[in-house]
Amino acid sequence: MSLEFKVQVRRYSLAFRGPVRTAHGVWETREGVFIRIEGVDGAVGYGEAAPVPGFSDETAGGIETEARALGETVADAAFDALPGRMACLRHAIGEARRRPESAPGTDPGRLSLGVAALLPAGKAALRDAPPKAEAGFRVFKWKVGVGDPADEMALLDDLCAALPSAARLRLDANGAWDRRRAERWLERCAERPVEFVEQPVARDSRGAEDLLQGLARDFPVPIALDESVVGDGDIERWLGMGWPGLFVIKPSLLGDPVASLAALAAAKAQVVFSSALETGIGAKSSLRHAFRWTGEHRALGFGAGPLFADARFDGPAAAPFIRWQDVERINPEAIWNAAS
Ligand code: MG
Repeated sequence: MSLEFKVQVRRYSLAFRGPVRTAHGVWETREGVFIRIEGVDGAVGYGEAAPVPGFSDETAGGIETEARALGETVADAAFDALPGRMACLRHAIGEARRRPESAPGTDPGRLSLGVAALLPAGKAALRDAPPKAEAGFRVFKWKVGVGDPADEMALLDDLCAALPSAARLRLDANGAWDRRRAERWLERCAERPVEFVEQPVARDSRGAEDLLQGLARDFPVPIALDESVVGDGDIERWLGMGWPGLFVIKPSLLGDPVASLAALAAAKAQVVFSSALETGIGAKSSLRHAFRWTGEHRALGFGAGPLFADARFDGPAAAPFIRWQDVERINPEAIWNAAS
């Protein structure tokens, strides 16, 4: 006999505290869908479908329609029948059905993970970096490919000089560069404290996969894939190609994060866990996956907060470290109720 679940759906639309500027444009309102699932045993779980414009073709409206089409009482086989392209919805349902877990092992070193501070694009990074360094951050992420290319490149040395001596800088181009510009930047990054360059060229640009492989081979600065690894089967394909760089993983965008992370771990891939600018419900799920990661830990890409004008929806505060208990303190039920 198949198990049945009671499913509730709540769509949300939340203004960011300030517009988020990336190479994909300006993003002012975070839209997504919360899922609440109650089992026959009365156990309740919450999940968040949080699509990111420029990463996924899913929309909050499409997710809401598919989720409501499941009905209020759903047999588990119906969950499994959701199409692969609905990765964010499959993610939300999977997380809502996951039963509570205990703390990750007993290694105290694993109970607190470092966080990368997110710097604003352009010159504002020079203003924001010193106070963040003062607060204890040692890894910084700077969005590039947003303003005038020559101005941005000229700022790189000023920004490096504004960071503490042991600091590392991540650059995220969000796919904004062409080959020539990517090569110029990667050349410039060599011998500078750049940890990696994220998505130098767009996933859908011509010959993108060969180009990314070539850039990774030709330059000493590691390259991280982000937009390139959010579709169904992307991670497996890049692992199959023997990608030598890093994988930026936004667990919220993965239909089956447990399976994808197991494949990455088996390949001993270098993984950076990152926020999809989701609410506390999605952040809690994503961070639990990060704390369970068995490979090498890099600073988490969870340094953008506080995100929302309505702070009831925020995940953990953007601090230089996130502890397991900070993750466990997030109350999905309160966030669900706030969305009513
Ligand atoms: Mg990125």
